[in-house]
Amino acid sequence: MYNNDKLLADFWGILNLTTDYLTTGIKQKHTSFKVLSDSLGQIAKEISLCSKCRLCETRTNTVPGKGSSSPSLMVIGEGPGAEEDRRGLPFVGKAGQYMDKWMDAIKLEREADLFITNIVKCRPPGNRDPLPDEMTACLPFLDRQIKLLSPDLILSVGRISSQVLAGSSDGIGKLRGRSYLYKGISLIPTYHPSGVLRNPDEYRKPVWEDLQRVRNFLAKKELT
Ligand code: SF4
Repeated sequence: MYNNDKLLADFWGILNLTTDYLTTGIKQKHTSFKVLSDSLGQIAKEISLCSKCRLCETRTNTVPGKGSSSPSLMVIGEGPGAEEDRRGLPFVGKAGQYMDKWMDAIKLEREADLFITNIVKCRPPGNRDPLPDEMTACLPFLDRQIKLLSPDLILSVGRISSQVLAGSSDGIGKLRGRSYLYKGISLIPTYHPSGVLRNPDEYRKPVWEDLQRVRNFLAKKELT
């Protein structure tokens, strides 16, 4: 039989347990929820407010990237151009429209199969190369996107993004044709579509070979 003192002790015991749960259990759950709640929208919002490098001073819009939330292929360029900066969307200028044709040729659709983004999310003025400190400041956004999206394969387009992701200072002519891993994900480098538009006779054939490798990888999940 419970006497009054025992009842009171049990009451305080239950109250303390409840307090412990409220101050630790829920707090811990809340902390892990915060980690799990990272999302493309959250990353895009942080990018839109970002001033971690000088490119924030000259941008019109940030260009976080766009595409499928479960892409088979992630396409990564070096940075937004003038049209991308104006519209806040990746690869929507001439080069982007040309790249759409590449993807058509290997039966991939922008919205369904791809996520397209860049190493830096703000336009380098005058289309200059992004500087090393700008890329270092911006890369954590890309890494979070890659972690969230977990694509089957990454296609880096152009010298800069290929060097950064392959971790090599070799020129794109040497980097392409080989395979790399970035954050545990297979990576194929190729030329930038704007370079191919400028010099189709030289670059169209190797790009077509690289696109065949992309297609084969996505079909067989192994690099050829
Ligand atoms: S380029 Fe990246 S790091 Fe620099 S301001 Fe834009 S979002 Fe921030």
